[in-house]
Amino acid sequence: MSKSEAKDLKKELFTKKKNAGFIMSEDEINEADRFCKGYMSFLDSAKTEREAVIESINLLQENGFEEYDFKNTLNPGDKIYVVNRKKAIIAAVIGSEGVEKGFRINAAHIDSPRLDLKQNPVFEDNQIGFFKTHYYGGIKKYQWTTIPLALHGVIINSKNENIEVKIGEDDNDPVFCVCDLLPHLATQQMKRTLSEGVKGEELNILIGSRPFKDDKESEMVKLNIIDILNKKYGIVEDDFISAELEAVPTFKAKDIGFDRSMIGSYGQDDRVCAYTALKALLDCKGIPKKTAITVLTDKEETGSDGNTGLNSSYLKYFIYDLAEKLGGKPRQVISASECLSADVNAAFDPTFPDVLEIRNASKINYGVCVTKFTGSRGKSGTSDASAEFVGRIRNLLDSKNVIWQTGELGKVDLGGGGTVAQYIANLNIDVIDVGVPVLSMHAPFEVTSKIDTYMAYKAFKVFIED
Ligand code: MN
Ligand code: MN
Repeated sequence: MSKSEAKDLKKELFTKKKNAGFIMSEDEINEADRFCKGYMSFLDSAKTEREAVIESINLLQENGFEEYDFKNTLNPGDKIYVVNRKKAIIAAVIGSEGVEKGFRINAAHIDSPRLDLKQNPVFEDNQIGFFKTHYYGGIKKYQWTTIPLALHGVIINSKNENIEVKIGEDDNDPVFCVCDLLPHLATQQMKRTLSEGVKGEELNILIGSRPFKDDKESEMVKLNIIDILNKKYGIVEDDFISAELEAVPTFKAKDIGFDRSMIGSYGQDDRVCAYTALKALLDCKGIPKKTAITVLTDKEETGSDGNTGLNSSYLKYFIYDLAEKLGGKPRQVISASECLSADVNAAFDPTFPDVLEIRNASKINYGVCVTKFTGSRGKSGTSDASAEFVGRIRNLLDSKNVIWQTGELGKVDLGGGGTVAQYIANLNIDVIDVGVPVLSMHAPFEVTSKIDTYMAYKAFKVFIED
């Protein structure tokens, strides 16, 4: 065989995957950049699961979706949504075909790692005021020190009133932070392992330092802080017990790089898939054949348990109710349904090449990532999509010019992670993970590629339009 024959044969037989920058037209790259402007403003206004629900409702209503009451009748083309306890949302467009062939679901999560306040958070130590926190989700604790933090959430007071808190986002607002030791005095701390470098109970948030007034009472700084909060929000110390307050980075979403090819922001896991899955439904062309559903869930980062997480029955109930309403048998409809578990994957980082297996790692700018299975150490805790379903999805993406890649989260035996896929699979639904590769995942400032984000949107859209 001559050299040129081998070259031709390679072209024919070897993988054709390459950087999307070599494949996409300039127009399409511009379109991706334009699409990401909307995504970046979503990131800035939806930093918590509650805010993501509110922003989603705004977008849904602007696009003709109405809150659904199960007393109403449903017709093909109807656009509906239901909200679960202000922290999760399901939206749907009713399809034109019979329901027995199932629904098409894109499922993403809208909770992100952060620092939650404890229920007795306020304390004063040596005339400095702090909040105690319990971190939420998997974080590298040292990353959450010495960055500006904002406080978002709700407080339910003794009259059962709902008090919204959002402080630190406006340019005139104060911000908060967790302090770290100066290097000069950190000799002992530097000997700790990285995971212990800053401990959970050391993640105390700095909230004030000025005493109420100079008299003989103790805890004057704490009193001054609670007095300020009382005047601003009408709350007393015990109201924190019935509060959900989340400290998140104050950073706004930014273009990254001289070429502006990437996005840096807090909370891209998994709002990059939440926004794209929601937009796919909003932009869905005409009336889909199968009822199209986007579910944006809570509690993925803590294992999907709880009534707003996808390990609860709320998605199943929604599907059952819709199936009945549309004249189908619920069990038959759910079993015939298909789902893309829309969640991020770990992008290959050349600075830390050892943790990923390069032949099976996702890379930024190679398109949306399709992950057959998650889990770790013998595929523990995975749903492992069937070859048939992977085949269906890859052929669909190829036929619609969606640039995609495959990727596995980490080397075998090195670690791993799960998504909501297994909980959806447990409902007897065909499901596969499809999402955007992320650099610095779970850090206060995560990085994605604009092209991959756009390709995720295209993937979720062709899936429901097919
Ligand atoms: Mn995720
Ligand atoms: Mn995550």
